[in-house]
Amino acid sequence: INLENITPFEEQELNRNVLTTNLEMIKAWARSNSMWPLTFGLACCAIEMMGTGGSHYDLDRFGVIFRASPRQSDVMIVAGTVTKKMGPLLRRLYDQMPEPKWVIAMGSCATAGGPYVKSYSVVKGVDQIVPVDVYIPGCPPNPAALIYGIHKLQEKIRYEARHGRKVTNQ
Ligand code: SF4
Repeated sequence: INLENITPFEEQELNRNVLTTNLEMIKAWARSNSMWPLTFGLACCAIEMMGTGGSHYDLDRFGVIFRASPRQSDVMIVAGTVTKKMGPLLRRLYDQMPEPKWVIAMGSCATAGGPYVKSYSVVKGVDQIVPVDVYIPGCPPNPAALIYGIHKLQEKIRYEARHGRKVTNQ
């Protein structure tokens, strides 16, 4: 077909029936639909995260399967209060995850210290330790909020495949 001389009808049919893509976008599509989070339940937010993984909200339908090993995980969901004592362990587990990897800060504690923002022992946001891709507000965020955050991360993974990845504090 000479693409310079096609009729509007042919152009419409081409747009409907021909899909153009590249390998990076196919990989991003597969990755975004099979995220395996390393569970990092630290406090009350973790109860909501566990509830989201249960049969009612059924995270499995999005390809989200929780793993207990950082070696098998590509997403870290930090759900709860990060203490300064826990910080180095969190970083070590993050470093043990293979690339590419992403982080979700779930709840106001993981995002910015939450109700413990004045405490001497609490990290004022997990982004001081690892790069965070998605922040989910709330104390605690409910399962719908976590699912929304996961969808946002899926969008981000696909966007990064087209435009490249920016990591700010690695
Ligand atoms: Fe608990 Fe609220 Fe902190 Fe979540 S944000 S861990 S619910 S205090």
